[in-house]
Amino acid sequence: MELIDSHCHLEHELYADGLDEIVANMRKASVSTAITCGTGHENNRKTLKIAEKYAEIEACLGVSPYDALRDWKSELSVVKDARDKIVGIGEIGLDRHHFTSPDEWQKQEECFTAFVELAESLDLPVVVHTRKAEERVFEVLSSYKDVHVMLHCFLISKLAPEAEKRGWLVSLPTIKSKSREKIAKALSFESLACETDSPFLWKDEKDDGFARNEPANVVEAYTAIAQARKQPLEEVAERVSENARKFFGLQK
Ligand SMILES: [Zn+2]
Repeated sequence: MELIDSHCHLEHELYADGLDEIVANMRKASVSTAITCGTGHENNRKTLKIAEKYAEIEACLGVSPYDALRDWKSELSVVKDARDKIVGIGEIGLDRHHFTSPDEWQKQEECFTAFVELAESLDLPVVVHTRKAEERVFEVLSSYKDVHVMLHCFLISKLAPEAEKRGWLVSLPTIKSKSREKIAKALSFESLACETDSPFLWKDEKDDGFARNEPANVVEAYTAIAQARKQPLEEVAERVSENARKFFGLQK
């Protein structure tokens, strides 16, 4: 069995002790590849270094809606120069949950659009974050018909079929929820991906508080799809990992 973690942040300070053990845990858990995503200035550089060090880790670079409020323009050339070392552009997107002023939205949108255009010109897929801005994200992305899109940690079950119609991938996280189950059932296999969003989106079983997530845990998301669809985990693993493999252009 082969599993792929389509989205995580391994440059995060919660991994300051190093990633040797995290990568060893991936191997034990049949996770062949983890896609780690940069979100801005400092961590794009860290992200690239990590991907260079470990064969099991591939990188995407981008500027998140958080970092879009700072100076982000220099990152366009950083990403461009790294073209042959990365498998996608992200994490990029719009967030109207944490940010509520139209001025902030404007800045986010400028940044988002600039990176989608860059992805189009470099022929790379995009990994998109959207929170309370789904309609606008769909509108913006729909005008770039040649860009391949993955909506990361996407749990809006009403809109998931719309994403599928556009040929986008919907990536499901390791946290249990009703909408994850609904989406796992409603979409075709070809539209699904699985992610941990490590170090986030993991709960301590005892006290329900935050616990550090890691790519080895991605099996939890694959298992949720298998259970929702009443299909063997091996088949889900094979078909859903293949989507991520194609999307990011990963070699076997
Ligand atoms: Zn993320």
